[in-house]
Amino acid sequence: MTKNRIHSIESLRAENHKLFEVLKVNKLLASSLHLDIVLKTLLEKTKHICLAQASSIMFLNEKEDELYFHTANDEQENELKKVRLKVGEGIAGWVVEKRRPVLIENCQNDPRFSEKADHKLDFATYSMMCIPLEAKGRILGTIQVINRIDGKPFDKQDLRIFQILAEQAAIAIENARLHEIASVDGMTGLYRKDYFSSRLQEEFIRSQNTQRPLSFLMTDLDRFKKINDSYGHQGGDQVLIKVASMIRETVYKIASEDIAGRYGGEEFSVLLPGKNVKEALEMGEEIRQNIASSSISINHQTVRVSVSLGVSAYPLQKAKIHTPDDLILLADRALYLCKERGRNCVMLYEE
Ligand code: GH3
Ligand code: MG
Ligand code: MG
Repeated sequence: MTKNRIHSIESLRAENHKLFEVLKVNKLLASSLHLDIVLKTLLEKTKHICLAQASSIMFLNEKEDELYFHTANDEQENELKKVRLKVGEGIAGWVVEKRRPVLIENCQNDPRFSEKADHKLDFATYSMMCIPLEAKGRILGTIQVINRIDGKPFDKQDLRIFQILAEQAAIAIENARLHEIASVDGMTGLYRKDYFSSRLQEEFIRSQNTQRPLSFLMTDLDRFKKINDSYGHQGGDQVLIKVASMIRETVYKIASEDIAGRYGGEEFSVLLPGKNVKEALEMGEEIRQNIASSSISINHQTVRVSVSLGVSAYPLQKAKIHTPDDLILLADRALYLCKERGRNCVMLYEE
């Protein structure tokens, strides 16, 4: 066989392998409707498949005609959030305006390139691929990868793979967005009670059939009436938003099946499929500590709050848990014990 033929067979093999990886990512994306998880998975896998140094997404704010960043790196994200590109500005702005993908060998020589993001991060972008994210004819933003790790520029083969990935990504992002609008509480960003209850129902049946553990946390703010009395209901709402975001951060820190919901006004619930009692108590303790150690600012005043958490666990408490409601009931009882014992604690109900 000639050297050339060996080379092209190898390159076909490499492409096949990447397509296989893309298929695996699709499956992963389709299995989650949680936008945070979809985006995190997408950015990690994109970087890996494209052999890129960095990957990011820019979302289009249609009202402002502006693009803003989303990355998988929290530290970078805070800096990058300050960077905005107008439609038509920079590579991503160009891609949105023209609705066309680009492959650039070296951005330093491209007049469309904007250095705003590089300056913020003290980074140098050379090769880049940027693709519009479109779903149902609407443009959501762009996805881009930067600098191939071997130092070479991206090539047409890389772009082909990246385009397939981006098409699937746009569908997954749009699905997750629509799903969130329908199932998420607008104020706290946590799941609404009806969605949460239907997930609890599903998971409970699954655990009953398989004996896979299923744990549940019920969280209630301590002495919250006092907060409302001191800072007004709007001040109280700000506390709820902050506490909910701390719960979100703890529950969704690593990709898992766990979900957090707003059960009532100042009561939050967390469903932990596959987690046993020990893991549930640990999660509860982490939430409690994160909240107790933070200070929240309301109208330039610093407020400290705490929560109490009741835990229930199947199949550990099997004798008492026959329906999904029993799981809630036992966690409620445990929560009541927490309140009796002085609040700011996590408990499992035991006779
Ligand atoms: P405890 O430690 O025993 O839980 O004391 P508590 O004062 O927190 O008592 P409880 O949980 O019974 O009170 C909940 C209060 O939360 C009553 C209600 O006014 C307030 N609340 C419920 N929903 C909201 C809301 O959406 N916004 C605000 N600001 N307050 C709310
Ligand atoms: Mg309450
Ligand atoms: Mg309370």
